[in-house]
Amino acid sequence: MRLDVVTIFPEYLAPLDLSLIGRARRDGVLDLAVHDLRDFTHDRHRTVDDSPAGGGAGMVMRPEPWGEALDAVLAAGRSALGDDTAVPTLVVPTPSGTPFTQAAAHELAGLPWLAFACGRYEGIDERVLEDAAERMPVRPLSIGDYVLGGGEAAVLVVVEAVARLLPGVVGNPESLVEESHAAGLLEYPVYTRPATWRGRSVPEVLSSGNHALVARWRRDEALRRTARRRPDLVERLDPAGLDAADLALLDDLGWVLEHGRLCRAEP
Ligand code: SAM
Repeated sequence: MRLDVVTIFPEYLAPLDLSLIGRARRDGVLDLAVHDLRDFTHDRHRTVDDSPAGGGAGMVMRPEPWGEALDAVLAAGRSALGDDTAVPTLVVPTPSGTPFTQAAAHELAGLPWLAFACGRYEGIDERVLEDAAERMPVRPLSIGDYVLGGGEAAVLVVVEAVARLLPGVVGNPESLVEESHAAGLLEYPVYTRPATWRGRSVPEVLSSGNHALVARWRRDEALRRTARRRPDLVERLDPAGLDAADLALLDDLGWVLEHGRLCRAEP
């Protein structure tokens, strides 16, 4: 997968040299290029921002350096991929974007080329997105309902979530199957050695050697944890994916099936 990141803080992306992502880059699974937006300015101060049209607080990123930077990304990526017609999907991190979810991570992981436009200040002049959309798919994505100072941290989040889904990046692909958000539930609690630590024991069932019992215990704990921490996810569960034991446990936790959807029982 080819990744291009445009930013005014290239050093911010240094963590992409580490851990699984760093190894994926060294193994050639990921080809990452980071571009300094200021390289596409033409004034002495390498200016990338200006006051907002219509007035108001803060500064807005000017369109000209962005236009040139995205033209350069297109040319560099096409040459690296050896395909004159290839286009990236442009991911624009913004708190006003659609939520970035595990489903979105899977979708992006299926694409050959992603480009990222890191905003700063009050964001990027909207015409940049309109202009880019004439040449490539544009995805404004939010990593959560809060406001960061810039898009770089969001890019680290998106790249990490996407890259670990690429074949060969996570050592054991089985670990992607049962984790949180893979099937609409949060993951069950996990434990390791020692069997007892500070007077706390690993749940006995986990050393029973009975795979069916372990699987049932994990499923119950995943349902309990999801109901406690993320009731919105329980509401979205497809009842067709729940067995009788799931429904009995949810019933104990105060959830009932109504018109094919799980709802909290009236007190
Ligand atoms: N004025 C913008 C608004 O209210 O929507 C916020 C701009 S924010 C201070 C600067 C940059 O941080 C954004 O352009 C975006 O790149 C990034 N950013 C901030 N919060 C984000 C979030 N929740 N998800 C993704 N990117 C975010």
